[in-house]
Amino acid sequence: VEERYVDGTLPAAVDRAIERGAEECFDFLERLVREDSQLGREQSAQELVAAELSSLGLRVQEIAIPPEIVDDPLAGVGQIGYEGRCNLLAVTSEEPLELLFNGHIDVVSAPPQGWRRPPFAPHREDGWLIGRGAGDMKGGFAAAMLALRALRAAAPQVLQIPLGFLSVLEEECTGNGTLAAVRAGISAEAVILPESTDLRILLGGVGVVWVDVVLDGQGAHAESSGRSPGVLDAVGKVTCALRRLGRDANEHREADFASLSDPYAVNIGILQAGDWHSNVPSRATLGVRFGHPRAWSADEALAALGDAVRDACQGSGVTAGIVPAGLRAEGYCEPLDSALIHELSVAHERSHGSPCETYVIGSTTDARFYVNRGIPAVCYGPAARDIHGPNERVELASIVRSARTFATLLLRRAGGSASSEPRERPSHV
Ligand SMILES: [Zn+2]
Repeated sequence: VEERYVDGTLPAAVDRAIERGAEECFDFLERLVREDSQLGREQSAQELVAAELSSLGLRVQEIAIPPEIVDDPLAGVGQIGYEGRCNLLAVTSEEPLELLFNGHIDVVSAPPQGWRRPPFAPHREDGWLIGRGAGDMKGGFAAAMLALRALRAAAPQVLQIPLGFLSVLEEECTGNGTLAAVRAGISAEAVILPESTDLRILLGGVGVVWVDVVLDGQGAHAESSGRSPGVLDAVGKVTCALRRLGRDANEHREADFASLSDPYAVNIGILQAGDWHSNVPSRATLGVRFGHPRAWSADEALAALGDAVRDACQGSGVTAGIVPAGLRAEGYCEPLDSALIHELSVAHERSHGSPCETYVIGSTTDARFYVNRGIPAVCYGPAARDIHGPNERVELASIVRSARTFATLLLRRAGGSASSEPRERPSHV
């Protein structure tokens, strides 16, 4: 671990405990990445997290996700049932929580193409750990655990603060895990989501909806396919229309997202059509994700998508419609003057000797469920590359750096260190 700025705020004993615990924490991360926790397979990874949190002396309980959660106005469209699939909450105390870490245990799909080794066979390369979920966001779990373990060893009074760690499902497709926890009354004065942010503070994200675009036409023998356009011809038109929708939105960027050149993006993530070389397919389905302006509701975004695809197919003999399919995420942005941002900036600066940057993204995180209800919440965590892609990876040294920030913040909360102002306000970049 290269740079060290131990200036008295992080006592040397805690700093040493972080250093000493790092290898064990990387080992935990490797075991966690090895547990394939794609949608519907999360439980073995949750058990590993539960064991780790229990070993830290926290009280761990399962928090069921009621099936009715899908009827909540903020819910995403349910993907599969919730039986036998639980959130986990670990706490240091039964008192109202001062600080809650929220992490999602689910990972996105991991098709094997492009991976140097299988996605759930984690391996290290030049100081990085490679594997699906290493960056998004199991590395953040490791960072929070490393901080807690070091504090337990070297400053155990800190774990007297009412703290919690919430490990949720379905961040990547619905948000219903965190939503269910919020509805169950699990909250805190402030929430940190240790997503990979490269040790910057992530303030906000755009709205995101998932839809299936369904194109219906006339199935036929292949010999007639030159005579009238079919559903696959319509796919081209619909793709252009969806790109235009994203471009138009980006021409009127909201102030909070002005730092990004194209915060609103339409992605076609799935294309399904046809089953026989000599048949004209009668249906094509596109799995589409639209990152939309924060000012729009999910319903407004869905209406805009529906209009765009119907217009594109007008008069073509193909009928187009949309079906909501997952995320219905509100945009959100934590205000820059929030006490949590100040506190985290101070902790970062005291730990690393440089001011902490803030930023926003053209996607979403579970922080929206807190921020939009007035509970301060931001993301802060390690450095990752290629999340959602092949060879996703997290930088191990950045896990240690994140742990230092968390430990400093928690020590300050426990009154164990001198207070000081950050040298300057966080810069919004
Ligand atoms: Zn994530």
